Amino acid sequence: MIVQELQKIQERCGWLPVEELRGLSARTGVPLHRIHEVASYYPLYRLEPPPKVDIKVCRDMACHMAGAQRLRAEAGAIASEYPAGEVVVGGVSCLGRCDGAVAVAVNDHHYFTGQTAESIRDLVARAHAGQPLPHGHGEQHGALGFQIDVYAGTPAYQALAKWLSNPDAAALLKELEVSGLRGMGGAGFPTFRKWSAVRGAPGAPKYVVCNADESEPGTFKDRELMLRAPWLVIEGIILAGLVVGAERGWIYIRHEYPECIAAVRAEIARARKLGIFGPDVSGKGARFDLDVFVSPGGYVQGEESALLEAMEDRRGEPRNKPPFPVFQGLHGKPTVINNVETLSWVPGIIINGGSWYREKGVRGAIGMRMVSISGDIAKPGVYEVPFGQTLRELVETAGGMANGRPLKAAGLSGPSGGFLPARVPVAELPAKFAAARVPAGQTHFDLLDLPLDFGACGEMGAMLGAACVVYDDTREMVGQALNAAEFYRNESCGKCVPCRVGGQKLVEMSTELAEGRSPPGRLELIRDLGETMGITSICGLGQVASNPVTSVLRFFPGDVEACRGGRAP
Ligand code: SF4
Repeated sequence: MIVQELQKIQERCGWLPVEELRGLSARTGVPLHRIHEVASYYPLYRLEPPPKVDIKVCRDMACHMAGAQRLRAEAGAIASEYPAGEVVVGGVSCLGRCDGAVAVAVNDHHYFTGQTAESIRDLVARAHAGQPLPHGHGEQHGALGFQIDVYAGTPAYQALAKWLSNPDAAALLKELEVSGLRGMGGAGFPTFRKWSAVRGAPGAPKYVVCNADESEPGTFKDRELMLRAPWLVIEGIILAGLVVGAERGWIYIRHEYPECIAAVRAEIARARKLGIFGPDVSGKGARFDLDVFVSPGGYVQGEESALLEAMEDRRGEPRNKPPFPVFQGLHGKPTVINNVETLSWVPGIIINGGSWYREKGVRGAIGMRMVSISGDIAKPGVYEVPFGQTLRELVETAGGMANGRPLKAAGLSGPSGGFLPARVPVAELPAKFAAARVPAGQTHFDLLDLPLDFGACGEMGAMLGAACVVYDDTREMVGQALNAAEFYRNESCGKCVPCRVGGQKLVEMSTELAEGRSPPGRLELIRDLGETMGITSICGLGQVASNPVTSVLRFFPGDVEACRGGRAP
């Protein structure tokens, strides 16, 4: 695999010298231009030697709220105290450590949270002197303590043993159907249907790929699952493989999670040694092998077909769909692609039955989920909550709003779904939703009363993801929208024009908005551009990129006016 070979070269050399690329070309028979095409695409790879110290400050959502821009300027001032070019400071897209804003990466492999100018000064001094860096974020392991870990910290692979004692694929699929388990990566597709489709799809071999590339700003739940209970996702993958008829699986993990990569690799090695999987799965004659694929970076790699492109040694640009991966996935073969959490619920469902999971929901909703909450919240982190829990209950679970201030806005799917106001005007709600949920005579819906499940959020027209980012009443939302627009612009793969050009135009128009200099007609143009991008972009990135700014135009006109000194735009 070229993508993985390039990583090995970079680990050895610190960058990708052209002689090494030529050597790789000679060894593999892949033309040098193809290797360069891949090497020049992904953010992980360096085609120039790195500086002595490379500081990257996270730019997005929670880190932005916690002062990342100011911290980056302060780090730049620290860098200027060293000889020119030896210490370089830049920005980076969400590092998946929003519960410890501001997060910082040092020399590609070291990650630190809760950073200040003083702590960065210390890190720079140590790195510049060649001293070992202190332990970073995520290096303290501990039991997960959630219901999803049916083994309570003692990996036992009992679900696999139970199923292998009577390997009835149809019965397992039925149990998944009863459970109502859906994809936890955002799409919410029923798991039993995906597995059934791959099982029934013609073609061989088949594959299972776990998407552990969680890169949506505000999302970091899979990080905790892989770090503290990696056996769950491994068992889920093996079960998926045996049920659909696959003999090979991969866990595709973002490279910014080195602690998770280490934890998953260690558990894979342990399970392989125990014979849990391999040429003779648990001594039952089936074959299944499993490994980690380290992502070379980029938010769009979380899109399932872009992820497959990376695994096939190409630039990770999303494919046109159909065909869908369940029929033509990895190497054109039927492929199950599931999120870490989705697969991690499977062992519990097999051991306890589908209704065990199904009945965990409240207010008529189905099941449980892990959610990452960050922003202006007292205890940012990962929580295991029932579907159907209201936003108010989630906020209370996480210790309430920081400093006891009132909620102003929430992003229920990171930036992708845009920002919802604490009080949603009834006029902005679908009539059916308003009739069912807003008491007669009231003019607004209290967002804190929204049950967080696919049904209620879908009826409201809101996206429900694994990231919940909350904003208190001191926040100005136009600046948050600009920050989100910059994120999508930075992460566009550039394959399609509406997203590539539209993303930049959105940043320019959001900047005008934030600086209070939007000319007449500009807001209509922003809405038009957003609609065009939504209709014509190939993948979800371009389709949702305008949501943050259009949601601010829709729900926070006061903030837009305030940017113009009180003049209506
Ligand atoms: Fe790439 Fe954006 Fe098009 Fe998606 S929408 S394929 S990220 S250019």
